[in-house]
Amino acid sequence: MRKLFYILIAAMSLFIFVACGNDDATTAEQGQESIQVVVTFSILTDMVYQVAGDLVEIYTIVPIGDNPEDHEILPSDMIAVANADIIFFNGWNLEAGGDWFENLMESTGMAENVDYFRATEGINPFFLLTEGLEDEEDPHAWMDLSLGIIYVENIARVLSGFSPENADVFQENAKNYIARLYALHNEWMGRFDNIPDSQRILVSSEGAFRYFAAAYNLYEAYIWELNAEEEGTPEQMLALIDMVNNSEVRSLFAESSIDTQYIEQISAETGIPIFAMLFTDSLSEINGVAGTYYDMMRFNLEMVYAGLTN
Ligand SMILES: [Zn+2]
Repeated sequence: MRKLFYILIAAMSLFIFVACGNDDATTAEQGQESIQVVVTFSILTDMVYQVAGDLVEIYTIVPIGDNPEDHEILPSDMIAVANADIIFFNGWNLEAGGDWFENLMESTGMAENVDYFRATEGINPFFLLTEGLEDEEDPHAWMDLSLGIIYVENIARVLSGFSPENADVFQENAKNYIARLYALHNEWMGRFDNIPDSQRILVSSEGAFRYFAAAYNLYEAYIWELNAEEEGTPEQMLALIDMVNNSEVRSLFAESSIDTQYIEQISAETGIPIFAMLFTDSLSEINGVAGTYYDMMRFNLEMVYAGLTN
């Protein structure tokens, strides 16, 4: 039934696409047509914008503040995908809840590496630790700036391939952007090393900090490992409470795209305060503290450091 709905919507959007064909041709003749890009979540939105600026028009599928592990496909998503020149996704189980991304690509007839591209291409994954999921990749690679740089390189390469006449602009923007990201990465490499082991633990709701912890020399502890799993079961809660009670952790952290009730309960049970709301699977609104990927990473690094040394 659901599948049928997708096909109907796909057919509708195709009709709209064809109906608009004449207008598109006029714009193309004037040489002003921007490249239509669809991305699955807001981290990719900003990366594409940093590389391509106003040469692209970007449609973001998962709204700011929501987590991309789950998404209910909207008719507007179908229309945007049908009209897209390029689609970027993270892959590695990020957009996998109910197979929503796979269904969206299948029902609109899109093919990987032709129409849609994985931003994590070329990165070596961590695999999940949860029992039964050990063969599944941990999606949160962007949480290490040095890997976020590979996302940017992939985006610049795909855009340049689609629009060779703008390749110089994309490559130049990417080069400057990567230099900024790399400077921030280097600034924080080794900064956490002086915090004692029993205190240097990043405690959050979702285990979205595996790459972050590996890059910046932290330990991590969480209630559940991936948003797609069952969240906040009594077993998960008790295990984390036990871990926190046996550590010298001074702060807990909430995440902007996750219901805070679980980490609040951990805080109530352990007496350890929640220090800040971090950003993992979504940027903040554009004028917020984490409106760009760069600002999000800087904010997270500063907050985690302040919280652990509080
Ligand atoms: Zn996540």
